Amino acid sequence: MFKKILIANRGEIACRVATTARRLGVRTVAVYSDADASAKHVMACDEAVHIGGSAPRDSYLQWERIIAAAKATGAQAIHPGYGFLSENEAFADACAKEGLVFIGPPSSAILAMGLKAESKRLMEKAGVPLVPGYHGADQDPAMLKHEADRIGYPVLIKASAGGGGKGMRAVDKAEDFAAALASCQREARNSFGSDAVLVEKYVQRPRHIEIQVFGDTHGNCVYLFERDCSVQRRHQKVLEEAPAPGMTPELRQQMGLAAVAAAKAVNYVGAGTVEFIVEQPGGYDKPQDMRFFFMEMNTRLQVEHPVTEAITGLDLVEWQLRVASGEPLPLKQDELRMHGHAIEARICAETPDNQFLPATGRLDVYRKPAAVSFERGAVRFDDGVREGDAISPFYDSMVAKLIVHGATRAEALAKLDAALAQTRIVGLSTNVQFLRHVASSASFASAQLDTALIPREADVLFQQDRVGRALTVAAAVAQTLIAERATEGADPFSRRDGWRPFGLTMRRFDFEYRGESLQAQLSYLHDGALLLNVGEVSGPLVFNALESDSGTRMDLSFHGQRQTVQTWQRDELVHVFCDLGATVITEIDALAHAGEAAAEGGRLTAPMPGKVVSFSVKAGDTVKKGQPLAVMEAMKMEHTIAAPADGTVAELLYAPGDQVAEGAELLKIEVACA
Ligand code: ADP
Ligand code: ADP
Ligand code: MG
Repeated sequence: MFKKILIANRGEIACRVATTARRLGVRTVAVYSDADASAKHVMACDEAVHIGGSAPRDSYLQWERIIAAAKATGAQAIHPGYGFLSENEAFADACAKEGLVFIGPPSSAILAMGLKAESKRLMEKAGVPLVPGYHGADQDPAMLKHEADRIGYPVLIKASAGGGGKGMRAVDKAEDFAAALASCQREARNSFGSDAVLVEKYVQRPRHIEIQVFGDTHGNCVYLFERDCSVQRRHQKVLEEAPAPGMTPELRQQMGLAAVAAAKAVNYVGAGTVEFIVEQPGGYDKPQDMRFFFMEMNTRLQVEHPVTEAITGLDLVEWQLRVASGEPLPLKQDELRMHGHAIEARICAETPDNQFLPATGRLDVYRKPAAVSFERGAVRFDDGVREGDAISPFYDSMVAKLIVHGATRAEALAKLDAALAQTRIVGLSTNVQFLRHVASSASFASAQLDTALIPREADVLFQQDRVGRALTVAAAVAQTLIAERATEGADPFSRRDGWRPFGLTMRRFDFEYRGESLQAQLSYLHDGALLLNVGEVSGPLVFNALESDSGTRMDLSFHGQRQTVQTWQRDELVHVFCDLGATVITEIDALAHAGEAAAEGGRLTAPMPGKVVSFSVKAGDTVKKGQPLAVMEAMKMEHTIAAPADGTVAELLYAPGDQVAEGAELLKIEVACA
């Protein structure tokens, strides 16, 4: 085994490789860009070397610098992770020339599988089934069109050098072919530096099922079963699971053997994935009719490898390290077993409701599901970020991977839903809610899988709110009351929690929720109980703050729902999380704003004509921004006037019970200098 390796990657995969290396007693060297100077992966390794600017081409793709870093630190091998240099045969060659072990296949295998068209020609020779299509060298547009006509529409044009779901165009009819070809070639030239394409039959309602293979330097090659990655958006994977629902032992073996044949055809060593597209002409219920075709081979560790680890109980990175250091595969084909069912969800910084546009920002709040563990049977959470980290525009939008394992698919699904509910992110938009909707959609829950699942289920996937308006408003009101209790003084008249010597008082809240403005009235009853009215919904509001760190956790009941709710307030935004889901509401504190404007000269004025109920401060008190200063009452409604900034109370100009006119100055504040 190696003594020290360099990890030529970042984010979750660099952290994941470091975890296994540490367990095996292998020292690790991280490399990092400017943007990643204090990234989690840097802290996860024993040493770190700065390799350049934030853009990948200035750092993680600078392979001369990475090789120099390996030599300078005495690393014996380089793990490339996925993406970046993992499928770059020139890099693999350069490592070998410098006496470093590239933890991956031989460069000849990367090269052979690197181009989709060439690899298909090779697979044809090896007897691996292919999607009917044209993958020849002739790129004359008229000839390609002729081939498309022969294959029959719809067809898919694919950039031969493409990857990551880019450079593909589906064409429905002959008239559209020429334009689609031109646009595909343009994208391919820009993204991959080559405009060579292939044309193949566009399989209808296909499934994406891939086989994990592993080879060693002693001529052994095994398959570690399949993963179903059919749930995709823009040809990119969203949820992955193993085993594939409906898979029969016969089909598994056929696909496994085809994948091993594909790997052997290129003398494969290490971890690889053979991706198949699977036609299901008999529908979802007839696995015996499923036909599989080779799509491509990824000559690296795959993002979704943890689902295979979960069902086999193996550590694939450990296998990679053993194979790369010359050991034989730890197990033979007939010693491999699978148990239970695993599902992975890719948690991405993106906006599902806006065409999955990637999002950037800071992870202000980043809470992971409970029971996080690498043990099989538990919930696993792989990430490369910490609370407070920024998701920058330089790298992938994937924030974390959540992997669950259960005895059955139903059990895994239930764990997935629960763990997603506990994944709480504030500060940037993510797909966490969307993933819950997908996992609980009728198609996914009943395993009616194909790559069109997301568009087919669009009605239930987008802009769904499980928490609901009433509970969201109740949570925001409760959050405000809890926050106020934490800042107010001991004087009972300054309390805003409803204690009053007599009389019924009301308080109005203004919100903006999902683009709509909303009002809520809170009534304080004689016995201290609270009555909340939100539109047509009205009832007692009961809450009990359980704890409060940066946010507020409470047991909340309103309108027939009782939930453990967590809220985080960021300025006017109140983020609400509970088992039902996550949502956000804007609390519009018009009066505070009115006060703010008026307070600029140290004046705090009445926003409307009314009666002064109480002051919670006296002259000479220092106050904090947001602290309640006075309560006014008008039309049986209470309004709180809060300090617009930190400062000192200079003078109170009225007494409780006084009637004041709109605009009357209530008290003077000396604003503290910043
Ligand atoms: P999987 O391992 O599931 O096939 P992806 O296909 O999404 O995952 O690719 C894995 C990673 O590699 C992603 O971060 C993606 O950005 C990157 N990647 C894949 N292919 C390419 C490519 N041709 N050029 C650049 N990055 C790529
Ligand atoms: P990439 O290198 O970008 O991963 P792939 O060739 O693996 O490209 O294809 C990505 C996805 O596109 C597949 O998972 C599948 O959903 C879809 N796809 C690829 N080929 C076909 C096809 N012939 N018919 C229908 N869908 C396809
Ligand atoms: Mg692929």
